[in-house]
Amino acid sequence: MPDLVLATRNPHKAEEFGALLAPWTVVPLPADVELPPEDGTTFAENALGKARAAAAATGRASFGDDSGVAAEALDGAPGVRSARFAGEHATDRENLDLLRERVPVGSPLAYVCAIAYVDPAAGVEHVVEARCTGRMAPEPRGTNGFGYDPVFVADDDPAGRTMAELAPEEKAAISHRGRAVALLRDWLAAEG
Ligand code: IMP
Repeated sequence: MPDLVLATRNPHKAEEFGALLAPWTVVPLPADVELPPEDGTTFAENALGKARAAAAATGRASFGDDSGVAAEALDGAPGVRSARFAGEHATDRENLDLLRERVPVGSPLAYVCAIAYVDPAAGVEHVVEARCTGRMAPEPRGTNGFGYDPVFVADDDPAGRTMAELAPEEKAAISHRGRAVALLRDWLAAEG
């Protein structure tokens, strides 16, 4: 099992991906490697930009991800701008409040996650993308997770809980990130 360099500066993500990808070992990005800005128009483009930068700098198999929430009532916004929806340095709470302001209760939402894998030695690039559909909750509920989780009621939870009311393993089983990792794992296993 080769080690995989994860193109992120977010320690929370490194930990989460490390747990989801075992037995592949996820190694952190060396401190001197610069990642490109997330200014692509698609999740895949942003994920690929990060994975390519890490692979070019380290010469090792690397992966990068990008994710966000898309609201049907907003024609797919905030999408790739999810982290900056309420402003360049907006907090999770400010972003969530703005989404509540603009999206009616019960209106469809989707979480999307793209993961790009780049192996510079083999000249291989592969992108996987997964979604998790849900609806706007009547009010924020729950304290787990992050970001928009308190207002995202996943279609796949029969009890109608928000993502922030699910245990981490329950969220991983149905989430965009959990599903994208499963696709990447299947592909890596088939690649040998
Ligand atoms: P990024 O993938 O780090 O660029 O995250 C983009 C933004 O999308 C985050 O800051 C959150 O606002 C939102 N987001 C992505 N995944 C999730 C999730 O699993 N729960 C809640 N919010 C998420």
